[in-house]
Amino acid sequence: MRKAGQWTRDALVLVKLAEGYPATKPISKTDLTAFINLYYPGANDVQQARHLAAQKGFNILSGTRGNKEIAANHYQLEELYPAFIGDRRAGYAGDFAALKKHYDYCCATCGSKEGQPHRYRRGVTVQLQQGHMDNSKPLAPGNIIPQCQICNRADRDRWIYDKTGRVTGIAATADGLRMVMDFLKRITKEMRAKILAFLGSK
Ligand SMILES: [Zn+2]
Repeated sequence: MRKAGQWTRDALVLVKLAEGYPATKPISKTDLTAFINLYYPGANDVQQARHLAAQKGFNILSGTRGNKEIAANHYQLEELYPAFIGDRRAGYAGDFAALKKHYDYCCATCGSKEGQPHRYRRGVTVQLQQGHMDNSKPLAPGNIIPQCQICNRADRDRWIYDKTGRVTGIAATADGLRMVMDFLKRITKEMRAKILAFLGSK
């Protein structure tokens, strides 16, 4: 589950970066951190700008990503990619109608049919959305499956799905990493020894 604070920090960073939008200015990481600290005293190493650019599709230029016109450790919000205005999950420019038809208008993961009552959630009418197969990659052809609004919830960002909607791995997203870290905290000494032996044999 994504922590509420994560969303809030993302939003705060966007607020700061969007000052004067569309005539935005580069903002230093120091200034972003100071702004976040107004709401979260003591927060340091604010990664939101990088995260918003790499995983959430915001058009944020970064001085640390080789944009020569921006100083190191500065970020600037450019005009939003048209595809990401509004619901980022509605951003696929390809033929989603054809993709849905290919899947017989069913959620790839749970099989619920568009416009029908959800198979497992009482009172929910299925809406098919563009689900990422791998949330650490852009929503682009080859990385999209139709998913119902239940299977496409944001807290499923941690999973990698195959074309049949089955989970095949853990995505390199903040949620995926957090889940792995949570698992690691819970493993027993015996499991740790087995995992180390397994890794050592690779
Ligand atoms: Zn579903």
